[in-house]
Amino acid sequence: MTLFNLLKVRLYNFFTSPIGRYILRSLVHFVYVKTLEKYKKGKKKKFIVALTIDTESGYTNKDNSRVWQASRPDAYIGYYKGIENWRKLLNKYNAKATFFLCTNGFSAKGNDYNKVISQLKLLSKENHEIGLHTHPDSDLALQKCLKKKCNATSARFYNKGEIKKIILESQKLMRKHIGQKVSSFRWGNWALDTNAVKVLNEAGIKVDSSATPGIKGHIHGTMHYDWSKVNERYPWRLSLKNYQNTIHNNSKIMELPIATFNFMGLTLRADPVYSVLLKAAFDYYYKNAERSDKPFVFVVISHSIEGTHNDGTVTRVIKDTEDFIKHAKKFDDVEFMTMKEAYNKVK
Ligand SMILES: [Zn+2]
Repeated sequence: MTLFNLLKVRLYNFFTSPIGRYILRSLVHFVYVKTLEKYKKGKKKKFIVALTIDTESGYTNKDNSRVWQASRPDAYIGYYKGIENWRKLLNKYNAKATFFLCTNGFSAKGNDYNKVISQLKLLSKENHEIGLHTHPDSDLALQKCLKKKCNATSARFYNKGEIKKIILESQKLMRKHIGQKVSSFRWGNWALDTNAVKVLNEAGIKVDSSATPGIKGHIHGTMHYDWSKVNERYPWRLSLKNYQNTIHNNSKIMELPIATFNFMGLTLRADPVYSVLLKAAFDYYYKNAERSDKPFVFVVISHSIEGTHNDGTVTRVIKDTEDFIKHAKKFDDVEFMTMKEAYNKVK
């Protein structure tokens, strides 16, 4: 484990301990959202919570460090147990969610493969949505179709022709293994770019949720992503000229950005990994987001691998999401929806 990751795990363990939570609860009034209140306030329409779970190989260690698909593309437990643990939680509260699926799951063999497929079928049967999620460099099923290795996560390392192949082959894999046509999309590590927007537009994708307003990361690496110049909180149509532009509105793809919030100099994603702060971010958006003409969509992100340990037991993230769902369900005008359902309400 690198020093940075060790520090992240230590911080996570501290801030999800009773004393850490106590400290965070005393600081929640520092949570705010820049540029949310630019319109008149109104609350006639619903406040939609769209839980999104990026679904990949990997698992959470008992010390809460994460094993991601990039290092263990063969750890298919992230799919079958990850999905199962999330499904059980969601179904207990009748909360519909969207699973952004990386097609690497289809590279599983034998019993692993059957378990992955059976969980995906249950997701559809239970009316959760399955969207598409691309991680070219760790997706063994995709690389087999492309007949080559991919060396980067971010779209910016591929030309338009390469991106087109990646998306078309991914769609083919979805049809072949689960018989589904997908309409919602998130690029792995939020690393969308302009060529990817063009390809997704031609491929008939209706909703994207790659944007993390105000956040960039891995700037010098193959997982580079940059939404730091974007400060829009309400849906827009992605730009075919510059993916960071929110006013061109010239593609058919609606962007439903991941909710981000400001806290003590940081910009963070609405993610149950932040336990108490996720509730505070929800409260801030619930109170201040404009929804007099259209519902507001609050997009939360987590991962399948954060729902399971390597023995299949449930994680702290599942328990913290349960607290969050219970909190959000207290409000009569809050409704949990899939991306597709949310899109139909706001388009
Ligand atoms: Zn991912």
